[in-house]
Amino acid sequence: MGSGKVIAGSEPFDFQGKHVTVAGLGVSGVPAAKALHARGAAVTVVNDGDDARARAQAEELRALGVTVRLGDGATLPEGTELIVTAPGWQPGKPLFLAAREAGVPVWGDVELAWRLRGPDAAPWLAVTGTNGKTTTVQMLAAILKAAGLRTAAVGNIGVSLLDAVLGEETYDVLAVELSSYQLHWAPSLRADSAAVLNLAPDHLDWHGSMEAYAADKGRIYQGNRVACVYNAADKLTEDLVREADVEEGCRAVGFTLGTPAPSQLGVVDGILVDRAFVEDRHKNAQELAEVSDVNPPAPHNIANALAAAALARAFGVPATAVRDGLRAFRPDAHRITHVADIDGVAYVDDSKATNTHAAEASLAAYEPIVWIAGGLAKGATFDELVAKSAKRLRAAVLIGADRALIRDALARHAPEVPVVDLERTDTGAMLQAVTEARRLAQPGDTVLLAPACASMDMFTNYNQRGDAFAEAVRELGA
Ligand code: ADP
Repeated sequence: MGSGKVIAGSEPFDFQGKHVTVAGLGVSGVPAAKALHARGAAVTVVNDGDDARARAQAEELRALGVTVRLGDGATLPEGTELIVTAPGWQPGKPLFLAAREAGVPVWGDVELAWRLRGPDAAPWLAVTGTNGKTTTVQMLAAILKAAGLRTAAVGNIGVSLLDAVLGEETYDVLAVELSSYQLHWAPSLRADSAAVLNLAPDHLDWHGSMEAYAADKGRIYQGNRVACVYNAADKLTEDLVREADVEEGCRAVGFTLGTPAPSQLGVVDGILVDRAFVEDRHKNAQELAEVSDVNPPAPHNIANALAAAALARAFGVPATAVRDGLRAFRPDAHRITHVADIDGVAYVDDSKATNTHAAEASLAAYEPIVWIAGGLAKGATFDELVAKSAKRLRAAVLIGADRALIRDALARHAPEVPVVDLERTDTGAMLQAVTEARRLAQPGDTVLLAPACASMDMFTNYNQRGDAFAEAVRELGA
């Protein structure tokens, strides 16, 4: 870790009279345009689409005096001094190439929120990673609340950062979830402490390469004041800490599912322990909570709890608040949700396991498993996932557009595992999948929906896919 470097551009920005282009209406564009307009900027919104929703949003903004250009998000408006973009817009878009040529800076919604913070604004504890962000940020918020702090889980989750920063509510500290897209467009963000939970290939089409994806994730550590939290089992996250420029005195703190070394949090005999934020960490450790306080106590979720605990401890939260917060935490739906036990078989919905890295974590938490998988692969390969999980599988039931990719990986690495390949993609398909899974399961098994794929080939989103699973299970159990 380097330190002491001043990171340019984090000073307050005067928007008065500035020509600002907001790229993209959508979730963040409208509030961004309003906030900029209210600060005296001359705002132009550009948007690729020109549908009914966009027109309604445009009308609302035009009434305020904002210029809106629908159906053309490619051309840089004359006189633009700054672009504020929706985080999802790809860096290779013509608008950004033109901006680069003209020397115009580009900020995302997070950068804008960061620049609009007041002088006494709450510090940010930030979390990113390929998987586990939402869970960890919610655990963190629960721990901070248990410590009596005014806080909220914000960012790439429910409440936008702009709302959190500009709203009426005052906070002591914010638990901030950041996606790799948001980090890409947040050049001057400086969190108090930050964690990268894990790094596996994802969204590579957007970032261009694994290196670019990792570099964007690594931005979360830039300028950290107290601690850079990394995953001791994931060397890539530690490398990112090493490369970061941080404030003098900022520490690297690891989390591990094993016995923690000094400056780490880890697990000893079923107890979550802290050897980082204690006096004389070479001799002492502080008990934080029991593994059974983590909900659910699956290995990857214990890792999430340790990361949340590390960030909270870096902020000075007492050990008892870590325990109380973890006990109070309830995971969002479709993240390893136990749906029912029928005839000694557990039915678990992890519809949110939309990539292979997430599915691997969830398959590691059970044994034996009847695995329901498939959907849209998004360019993923399944050999590693299947090879690592093969010995836990009783059987597999495959659904969705890219199921052949999983079937072939099973044939290569787990030829003895029975596979049911469901061709149908209608609304009854999930009921048939669950019926087949029930037939294949034996008492003590877990039927696990961990698709390792996106859901949009058969469902509106992962929520609907998980609901269909739960409904099918209930129908079966009735
Ligand atoms: P994100 O916000 O990063 O998408 P979530 O907390 O919503 O993460 O969890 C998404 C899915 O990722 C979960 O359903 C689970 O399958 C998996 N998951 C959660 N935490 C981890 C982790 N630490 N490592 C690997 N997979 C995880």
